[in-house]
Amino acid sequence: MKRFRDYIDGSIGLRLTLYYCAILLTTLVLCGFVVIFGMNFALTKEANSKIRVAILNVQNTLQNEENPNLSDPELVDQAGSLELWIQVYKNGEIINKSPNFGNIKIPYYDGPVKPILINGQEVLVSGKDIGDGVFVEVAHPLKREKHFLAVLSGLLIFLMMGATLFAMVSGYISVTNTLGPLAILTRKVKEINTGKLDERIPLSGPKDELYLLAQAFNEMLERLEKGFKSQQEFVAAASHDLRTPLAVIKSYNDLLKRWGKDDKKILEESIQTISGATQRMERLVNDLLFLARVESKPRINFVKLNIKELIEEIGKEAQALSQNISVTFNSCDLFVNADEDYLRRALWALVDNAIKYNKENGEVKIISRQEGNFAVIDIIDSGIGIKEDVLPRLFEKFYRVDSSRQSAGFGLGLALSKEIIQLHGGDIRVTSRYKEGSKFSIYLPIYPPAIKGKNATL
Ligand code: ADP
Repeated sequence: MKRFRDYIDGSIGLRLTLYYCAILLTTLVLCGFVVIFGMNFALTKEANSKIRVAILNVQNTLQNEENPNLSDPELVDQAGSLELWIQVYKNGEIINKSPNFGNIKIPYYDGPVKPILINGQEVLVSGKDIGDGVFVEVAHPLKREKHFLAVLSGLLIFLMMGATLFAMVSGYISVTNTLGPLAILTRKVKEINTGKLDERIPLSGPKDELYLLAQAFNEMLERLEKGFKSQQEFVAAASHDLRTPLAVIKSYNDLLKRWGKDDKKILEESIQTISGATQRMERLVNDLLFLARVESKPRINFVKLNIKELIEEIGKEAQALSQNISVTFNSCDLFVNADEDYLRRALWALVDNAIKYNKENGEVKIISRQEGNFAVIDIIDSGIGIKEDVLPRLFEKFYRVDSSRQSAGFGLGLALSKEIIQLHGGDIRVTSRYKEGSKFSIYLPIYPPAIKGKNATL
């Protein structure tokens, strides 16, 4: 029993089949009851009226004749039916009865039709006083009706069983066939692991719920594969960037061990290089930590912020730091809902790039404007520009257009800026002309935030 229960619990197909068969059987049983009850009612009603007609016939015959013969056999045989027992009383004495009585004795009964038991058999009986001391009693055995109902019940039970059995077998086969792809899906899902993320579930058959499930699963695998690949690339790039300064530190360490302590020049050079490499590592680790924090969707401390003030602050800082690049800024009062520290970091990364990837005596402009429900900060430079084919990869983590360039950073600045701006419900767009310059535009929803659906989309 427990094994059967386990089997049912483990099979949706069997559960569904049993469930629907139970519903079918209940419906059939209810229909059967209605049919038997209806037939019983109709047959009893018919027998009732037969009895009443028979009594009336006897009464009419007696009333129509001047000198009626009460013991005339035709009087009680007039109903012409073997299923009616008719007997005539005169002053309480039976003086005539139909020939089909045999040994049966019907008790005297004066009243409307009612069922009684005679020799264990159900009989309908009625009696009527028709005057002059004459009393007519008619009975009808229900044997034929009971037999008919018994045969009908047997037939219905047989049909119910047959229909349920048929529904069970055909239902189980069709449910098992329909749910077949689910087994394939389960097998495939079990097979797939991180080393097999390029596997897909074959899509075939009608576009039903199972097809959609397999399709959704394939899409999820696609996303997982992409995520897993970029995670691997990320780890590889981070390790590579950490390895370089570590190798520098190690080689200068070896140098120091051998001669550095005695050679002042080597000692100084080593200290400087090790310090540079350590700073670079520290910067990378800080950037990585910050990126991890931003990616974990931190709670942002949103405040109403005038971006004019932020642009002026960063513009002045950039002017002070850039030596042969002219930095200008121009902003109007524009309010956004933002975390000041995060926004400063995102904007600074773009301004820093505009200076870093500029030409000798180039220029950088920071301009703010309003576009629909968005405040836009444009950072325009007259620098080296970016080739069009690499623009789509620009915001990927660790992506550098020219990774061999020593002055280049880790390729995390743009990725970080984009994450931050997206956390604020905005976006960053870039346009560039190779060797002529680039324009990075930060879009931020203007304060107060627009009602959803009202020009709030980029
Ligand atoms: P990095 O720390 O290397 O600057 P970023 O993510 O900030 O990393 O930038 C990614 C790459 O995009 C840079 O290596 C650089 O090649 C390119 N880039 C970014 N900003 C500019 C710009 N204003 N002009 C030209 N190239 C740029």
